[in-house]
Amino acid sequence: MIPYGRQDVSEEDIDAVVGVLRGENLTQGEKVPEFEKSVSQYAGSKHAIAVNSATSALHLSYLALGISATSLVWTTPITFVATANAALMCGADVDFVDIDPATFNMCPLALQEKLETAKKLGRVPDLVVPVHLAGQSCDMRVIFELSKIYGFRIVEDASHAIGGRYLDRPVGSCEFSDCTVFSFHPVKIITTGEGGMVLTNKPELAHRMALLRSHGITRRPDEMTQIPDGPWYYQQQLLGFNYRMTDIQAALGISQLKRLDEFILSRNKIAAKYNKSFSGTDIKTQYQSEGTISSHHLFIVRLEKNLRKETFCKLRDSGVGVNLHYIPIYRHPFYQLRGYLARDFPQAEKYYNEAFSLPIFPTLTEADQSFVVQRLLSPPGHQTLF
Ligand SMILES: *Cc1c(COP(=O)(O)O)cnc(C)c1O
Repeated sequence: MIPYGRQDVSEEDIDAVVGVLRGENLTQGEKVPEFEKSVSQYAGSKHAIAVNSATSALHLSYLALGISATSLVWTTPITFVATANAALMCGADVDFVDIDPATFNMCPLALQEKLETAKKLGRVPDLVVPVHLAGQSCDMRVIFELSKIYGFRIVEDASHAIGGRYLDRPVGSCEFSDCTVFSFHPVKIITTGEGGMVLTNKPELAHRMALLRSHGITRRPDEMTQIPDGPWYYQQQLLGFNYRMTDIQAALGISQLKRLDEFILSRNKIAAKYNKSFSGTDIKTQYQSEGTISSHHLFIVRLEKNLRKETFCKLRDSGVGVNLHYIPIYRHPFYQLRGYLARDFPQAEKYYNEAFSLPIFPTLTEADQSFVVQRLLSPPGHQTLF
């Protein structure tokens, strides 16, 4: 099976990990701060907090922004469940904003309309979480302008989008948000096995997230409420978690980050070939907004409803690991209990009936990609295998 995504681990990556295994600190050593510094330099943010997953990163950023049982968080229904789950983990309420049919990202116009209605009803969100689907940035400037009018905070779920750009800035610069979250799961752009990171330009948020990552404990005398009792002394100041990344993971991350630009180039090359192959056919691709460069974590196509399932099954039967990113979150049984109505999200519903993701990853061969294109474009019902 040709998977939809997979990691590219080099001999240098392996050597970097082995180096940590032969050394002194498997965790809480020097590699994690070094990885944080490299990523924040790459993305142009002031601070970065490495954690054990993007899910933890989302949870920490929401908590640091004060999201609690009285809060309301809005995101897109077309994302991985973790984006919304992290809000529920803070005890908050979640609602969804419908997507744009061309970019598949949260629709800024739908957001604006929903905000106007919410204001009349007296419950505007405390936090909005745009997700850069497939690696293409949302229209952050517009969302940022709305945040100033309606007074909400912004976390960018950029789990797909490290290496992407928006208005000549790297995704992660946090120019138009409070925090940006990256994922380093093996299917994502660069990997640490499991892992994630939160970027921010705000020192008070960075400080809170660093505390919450490790049990709410500080060992820095300048952060303590009293003069230390002795050299053994540390303080727990908040109820935190063990969300730490290991040095083994960080070493892999540092090594992978050096290859990020090369990964983005090969993903863009693959995307360009798909786009060329599908132009003038029934297969619709993701519109690339002006001012964005996608990292192409996913290559999503859409095919009209009555052809999608058959085509999806045909590709799977031919050994092409197509997938659907994503089932609208409100359709999951756990979320249905919370009472969302599918008719409130007509574009997400249409997307769910039409979309699927094709293989895209740096080591995808030209022959395999041509095979995917050939199988996809062959007439329905035409099942010859070779
Ligand atoms: C992968 C992903 C996450 C979760 O990432 P983990 O590192 O696996 O926790 C969150 N949001 C989106 C959009 C993702 O694709």
